[in-house]
Amino acid sequence: MIHSELLTTLSGYWAGEFHQATTADTFDVVDPASGERLATLPRLGEVEAVAAIEAARVVLDVEPPLHQRADWLSRIASSLTEARDELARIITLENGKPLAESRGEVDYAAAFYLDAAKRVPQLKPHRLAEHPRDHVWEVHHRPAGIAGLITPWNFPLGMLAKKLAGAIAAGCPSVVKPAELTPLSCIAFFALLDRLGLPPGLVNLVFGDAPAIGQVLCRHPDVRVISFTGSTAVGKQLALQCAPHVKRISMELGGNAPFVVCADANLDAAVQHLMANKFRCAGQTCVCTNRVLVEQSIAATFAERVRDEAIRLSVGPGLDEGTQIGPLINRAGFDKVQRLVDDAVRKGARVMCGGATPGDTRFFAPMVLADVTADMACTHEELFGPVVAVSTFRTDDEAVQRANDTEYGLAAYVFCGDVARAKRMATRLRFGHVGINTAAGPTPEAPFGGMKQSGIGREGALEGIMEFVELQTIPTPA
Ligand code: ADP
Repeated sequence: MIHSELLTTLSGYWAGEFHQATTADTFDVVDPASGERLATLPRLGEVEAVAAIEAARVVLDVEPPLHQRADWLSRIASSLTEARDELARIITLENGKPLAESRGEVDYAAAFYLDAAKRVPQLKPHRLAEHPRDHVWEVHHRPAGIAGLITPWNFPLGMLAKKLAGAIAAGCPSVVKPAELTPLSCIAFFALLDRLGLPPGLVNLVFGDAPAIGQVLCRHPDVRVISFTGSTAVGKQLALQCAPHVKRISMELGGNAPFVVCADANLDAAVQHLMANKFRCAGQTCVCTNRVLVEQSIAATFAERVRDEAIRLSVGPGLDEGTQIGPLINRAGFDKVQRLVDDAVRKGARVMCGGATPGDTRFFAPMVLADVTADMACTHEELFGPVVAVSTFRTDDEAVQRANDTEYGLAAYVFCGDVARAKRMATRLRFGHVGINTAAGPTPEAPFGGMKQSGIGREGALEGIMEFVELQTIPTPA
């Protein structure tokens, strides 16, 4: 069982306090590295979701002043930073990622609140320079209403920060629904929020029966924005549920990131960036490379160099000193990776290193698969595991066509000695984020999101705040 001074009350939070559960129904949170139970939580549902929305409604009519929002955001960032080590320990215990990555996630989360705090002044109302229709026109940025924030397990605090920072900056109260696999870091975060003296109802937390809570959030008329990060299947379901109520949706869904390496690329840099990108959170992030497309003439060399790096990574529990690859999140995640690898091998892919130890269904040693072809399921489905799948291309047209041959469009990377050539490819790549000679991912200062079935809307920067803003024009006779 987990013990933490930030986890003294394991329950939902609304109206400015944690509430003891009235339901006897429970679910367990498990350490993916050991399979041990960390906590047993109440399975909250419709009743609690409605209570959280009612609590949020209380603050709905008072538009918080901009300086107040900026102050809340800055104080949230500071409280995260102060509690970094304890939050990181909780993330690692429930998610499995190495402790260093969890610490990085807490800093990443704090940076989103800080950045949003800096941008709040940009929401000041402005007057049009022109006087159309002989009127003075003011443009206001109103809070859109209550925001329902549904987050995944791979970055329990990072993904929440991207949404909650935007909602608070816009002046919206929120109902947060974390993933049931990793709710503890979120509960701990709410214990910190509880100490900040925010207005009761501004931030609220429910978890347990995800479909039931999701339905309440999508149907309730006062919830005006649903911001979701997770699978495309659930995203589509939520979009359908929101449609009859004409609700705003902001979604970051699945990815299938291509990593294109041209023959003239700096191979050292390409290998290093691929390692950092591919193996974060054991390959379980939506910007992790899913398909490595290497120009034919250097493909064998490149795969060997990646293999030489991959075999050096240390695999183990995230809390152990020196661990670089933690366990996969659960048995379903493990089975998916194994299924996609088995399919690829059956169709002719070659395993250069890595894989599971027989009998173990938690850890998967970093794998490099060569000779991957388009008929293999791993080129269309997200692997979400530590497997580098290498295939080849001959021309830029082929690289672009293959990279775009997916229903997804979140992140792509191009490594090329000729930046102009890489930029020409970028204009044709239907991805919301295209790194050129870098596999750097999202950052609070830039708007990030997907094209095609990878999502709708953006997170980060002013654009991420605008997802929670309604524009209102006020003309008055000049
Ligand atoms: P993943 O495959 O990453 O677990 P999911 O889409 O299943 O992605 O989960 C992402 C988030 O969506 C989690 O918080 C999960 O509890 C929530 N969720 C899953 N199913 C539903 C649903 N039917 N309605 C609302 N939220 C859901």
